Amino acid sequence: MNLLVLGPQGAGKGTQAKRIASEYGIPHVSTGDMFRAAQAEGTEFGKQVGEIMESGRLVPDELTIAMIEERLSRPDARAGFVLDGFPRNLTQAEALDAMLVGIGRGLDAILFFDVPDEVGTQRALERAQLEGRADDTPEVIARRLQIYHSETEPVAEHYRATGKLIPLHAARTIDEVWSEITDSLQVVA
Ligand code: AMP
Repeated sequence: MNLLVLGPQGAGKGTQAKRIASEYGIPHVSTGDMFRAAQAEGTEFGKQVGEIMESGRLVPDELTIAMIEERLSRPDARAGFVLDGFPRNLTQAEALDAMLVGIGRGLDAILFFDVPDEVGTQRALERAQLEGRADDTPEVIARRLQIYHSETEPVAEHYRATGKLIPLHAARTIDEVWSEITDSLQVVA
């Protein structure tokens, strides 16, 4: 099963993507996690990426697309994947579509986590206190939301046109959203 999770910060994408990955036995591919891992390794690439992340801006498309292309070509992604945090803009979405055509695969569903801005922002602020992520300051959270509206929302429209977009009521509890997900994936799988 080839899945995408799409939605703003604080929508619960990462939590649900991890659960999907363990339930369906497919890798959770999160660009944010991959960039944070690179940052923790302290390589030159990691340092550059770290600075960009801490500003709330997006890492350049070429780097991000190349990283995802390499990741999806690994053997563990053959059975499927759940992509989280990618694509973030239309350029990345078109690159992903082309990549999948190239390997003869398609997306089975795009899970769209719909939450009001206030809910997502509040959750992101709470996570900031719990996890202490360097890019979770109020200013950076606001910048990320702004970029989400201008760059990432068009990606949802792009996939809505395929008829495979599944809107979720993501302001509900983790278990409620999870049951919406499993119900909708039963129809897909
Ligand atoms: P996330 O954990 O998905 O919120 O991502 C954390 C940060 O990593 C973002 O604010 C961006 O700086 C960077 N990032 C993650 N995914 C992407 C992507 N697909 N394209 C560009 N930058 C990304």
